[in-house]
Amino acid sequence: GPSFKDTDQIKSNHIAPAVYNIYKKPILLHQGHMQWLYDANGQRFLDLFGGIVTVSVGHCHPKVVSALNEQSNLLWHTTNIYRHPKIYEYVEKLTSKMPGDLKVVYLVNSGSEANDLACLLAKAYTGNHEIISLQGSYHGYSSSLMGLTASQCYRMPIPVPAGFLHAYLPDPLRGIFGGCRDSLSQVPGSCKCPEDCVSSDKYIELLDDLLQNSIPTGKVAAFFAESIQGVNGAVQFPKGYLKKAQALIKKNGGIYVADEVQTGFGRTGDHFWGFEGHGVIPDIVTMAKGIGNGFPLAAVVTTKEIADAHMRATYFNTFGGNPLASAVGKAVLEVLEEEKLQENSKHMGEYFVQQLKQLQSAHSFIGDVRGKGLMLGIEFVVPGTKTPLPVADVSQIHELIKDMGILIGRGGKRNNVLRIKPPMCICKEDVDFTIHVLDKAIKMYSR
Ligand code: PMP
Repeated sequence: GPSFKDTDQIKSNHIAPAVYNIYKKPILLHQGHMQWLYDANGQRFLDLFGGIVTVSVGHCHPKVVSALNEQSNLLWHTTNIYRHPKIYEYVEKLTSKMPGDLKVVYLVNSGSEANDLACLLAKAYTGNHEIISLQGSYHGYSSSLMGLTASQCYRMPIPVPAGFLHAYLPDPLRGIFGGCRDSLSQVPGSCKCPEDCVSSDKYIELLDDLLQNSIPTGKVAAFFAESIQGVNGAVQFPKGYLKKAQALIKKNGGIYVADEVQTGFGRTGDHFWGFEGHGVIPDIVTMAKGIGNGFPLAAVVTTKEIADAHMRATYFNTFGGNPLASAVGKAVLEVLEEEKLQENSKHMGEYFVQQLKQLQSAHSFIGDVRGKGLMLGIEFVVPGTKTPLPVADVSQIHELIKDMGILIGRGGKRNNVLRIKPPMCICKEDVDFTIHVLDKAIKMYSR
């Protein structure tokens, strides 16, 4: 059989064709250590995407590996009808990180599962059915989450499942109609840029319109939002938006679910949770990705009152909260603390933004640099406009960056945003190397 050392051999007919491959010429990854990845031939890559914001403390971090090894020799699986000590130790530690009354945990296996369960809890608790998420959002992939996820490129061309509505995206760069001031404009001239775009009030008015005019009862079960939109390209909301949205939703009978799948675990630098940067305490928090550093683990954390509303039905999940995942989750929290990775995220993020803004002033292809901590986006545009640079051009730049030894993410409505979300252990030299490579790649592309 094939040795699978040559990337040309990996075009397998046995992998579903809808599975997306980020590079035209794929790479075959073989080994990882902290912020570094190695392909089957030993070529080294700086990993600035962390398996999509998932490798929080570093690939194969020795402390996490030994926690996993130790537990794997003791007990792998119980299922949630039995208990084991690791799960108690873990939920104690996890809830110590949560503010307010957010002290009750469901352990699950993926972000999609967590958000699906949060939808159910919101409906059980409020007695309402309608759920609102934001345009451009990604909250997971399942037949019902085809409704919660609003991002068009991940939605099958089927009707939005009943009961899901999408509110206008509060995007200070692109504006209320998703692209005023550029060729994407849906309703040219209908927004007073830039005042409307940077003020949260206009978006709250539109959210109120949606509640009043699109939901017959005016009652809603939940409002879902990330603290900074991830897949949509590090979109940050106007100041005060989430706080006002939570109050408005509450007035209409609903609760606020914070999707911290990408923004949690210190990633945004200033705070452990992204929502803390908005001065809000959600009713439910969903988390995944960085929680397990790559091991399948996710959670829904809520209040006792909300969890109690779920008591009408027994909850069952075969793998949720298994001993291996609980051991890994606890080790990840310990490493985050011991190595002060939230602080590192803050400092490296600030340094990154400062360097990227300098790069922006040298290259008019860079239309925006945004984000917080180690959750950053670089938006590519047609120079002098806000029109997204065509996907094929961004792909060229992206491929050049890979060829020079850096793996970086893609995202945004038009797939024209490069996303930087590395393991939180990166250092200043990695930032300098990245800036050097980005500069070179843009020059090579524009030549
Ligand atoms: N929420 C957000 C914000 C995400 O970015 C993702 C994954 N990209 C999910 C939920 C779904 O997570 P999973 O792929 O683990 O199901």
